[in-house]
Amino acid sequence: MKTKFIFVTGGVLSSLGKGLAAASLGALLQTRGLSVTIQKLDPYINVDPGTMNPFQHGEVFVTDDGAETDLDLGHYERYLNVPMSHKNNTTSGAIYNKVIAKERRGDYLGGTVQVIPHVTDEIKAKVLSLAEGDDAPDVAIIEIGGTVGDIEGLPFLEAIRQLRSELGRDNCLNIHLTLVPYLKSAGEHKTKPTQHSVKELLSIGIQPDIILCRCEQPIPDEMKKKIALFCNVDQDAVFSSVDVSNIYEVPLKFYEEGFDQKVAIMMRLPARNAHLEDWEKLVHDCANPKGKVSIAIVGKYVELKEAYKSLHEALIHGGIANRVEVELRYVNSEEVTPGNAPSFFKDCDGILVPGGFGYRGVEGKIEAIRYAREQKIPFFGICLGMQCAVIEFARNVAGMEDANSEEFNPLSGHKVIYLMTEWYDFRTQAVEKRDAGSDKGGTMRLGAYPCKILAGTHAYEAYQAEMVEERHRHRYEFNNAYRDELGVKGMIFSGTAPDDSLVEIVEIPDHPWFVGCQFHPEFKSRPMKAHPLFRGFIAAAKARSQK
Ligand code: GLN
Repeated sequence: MKTKFIFVTGGVLSSLGKGLAAASLGALLQTRGLSVTIQKLDPYINVDPGTMNPFQHGEVFVTDDGAETDLDLGHYERYLNVPMSHKNNTTSGAIYNKVIAKERRGDYLGGTVQVIPHVTDEIKAKVLSLAEGDDAPDVAIIEIGGTVGDIEGLPFLEAIRQLRSELGRDNCLNIHLTLVPYLKSAGEHKTKPTQHSVKELLSIGIQPDIILCRCEQPIPDEMKKKIALFCNVDQDAVFSSVDVSNIYEVPLKFYEEGFDQKVAIMMRLPARNAHLEDWEKLVHDCANPKGKVSIAIVGKYVELKEAYKSLHEALIHGGIANRVEVELRYVNSEEVTPGNAPSFFKDCDGILVPGGFGYRGVEGKIEAIRYAREQKIPFFGICLGMQCAVIEFARNVAGMEDANSEEFNPLSGHKVIYLMTEWYDFRTQAVEKRDAGSDKGGTMRLGAYPCKILAGTHAYEAYQAEMVEERHRHRYEFNNAYRDELGVKGMIFSGTAPDDSLVEIVEIPDHPWFVGCQFHPEFKSRPMKAHPLFRGFIAAAKARSQK
């Protein structure tokens, strides 16, 4: 097996940026000529985050193969620029699901089924699956969700402990990310929480090889030596992970510290010198914008930025591509009413309505869209945002007063967005079916689907391609019964399924930029290569800002 494994655990508290740290290390190893993948092991019992509320868990990231995953996979794709799949994320729930199904089938031949070895074997199999096949990467980074000391995380930690003894020291490395707070009153960094967290790890048989210390300011060498001594790691194996204003600086900061070099040496990786030009250019471009645009995001989850993680990043990427700083203004859609739209949007350069579920806040989104359409403010509607744009157009331009989505008003006389019960899936090459009463998990159109782009449209101008693939996560679709009627009124269907059976992108003419798409382009945007639609949207906003 050529793949070597790096395990990343977290200590002291959550939200230290383990995902970003793992992704940044992966990116650095990539620039050293190694192929890298990353996997996230989530200790919660949900089978996947698909049914979880964004308020609690943040965004659900969707991969090409339709897996609903942790938002850290978004960071992995953005930093590594390699597609993730169902192989890159699992949860306790999914692992137990497998074990219980096997037990029911009688696969354990009457044995008692236990956490060790049966659950840990299943976890190890999931980790090792990354090393299978001809395209197995040189390095697989495994990020363990949660914090050391959580009850739920124990089986995962036990599994990585076993893997290390099975695969050998050269093939595995344990990195522990902890918090090293700076106490102003004492005027120094405090290492005790780190010591405790490492002790906790040791008590379950894991000796970290490298300690990565999240801190407000770089940790002095003296302090690093102290941490090394108390935590039993090499003197040069303690690194600072300093707070940064721009997350794309993290790889460069790690490099300055010598973090990736130490990893390469300890693991005997066939690494060349790091090539950081692209990252340096990216950080330089971010720091030197030539203007500023202000974008209003009209959504329901505005209090929690994590809920729109990929969207937020994709807008920043659009800004980088246009050399402008993007100022994001989150507007709570529930507060927007027919009378007050100008107070929210008067001086913004673009309005974006993101995806979402449920009726709450929808009327405010529709009002925001009406304002964008009438005032000719660049507008971008994503998934639910596109559906709302269709409803708005049907109501206010085509005169269908009660136009709605079947999701919000099943009794509407004009269900311009409806539940499609049968559709042809280009991937399985079969007719897929769903019905309104089925389970909430597993009834969505998920993952990458092809989309044909109509020439002469904003979409075509952005993509410069006739066929693209974009990722979906929704139940409802544009209702083809209204295509002619809305088309006559001016709506343009600039993206459709290759056989024309599904509407994927809508636009309206005589407007600087009014585009709604049924898919989620934000999942495919990269810092060094903004998604074409985000590039186009920000370009339109920039043109407005310069007027
Ligand atoms: N609620 C809508 C649907 O299920 C939109 C979903 C979304 O925006 N992701 O079709």
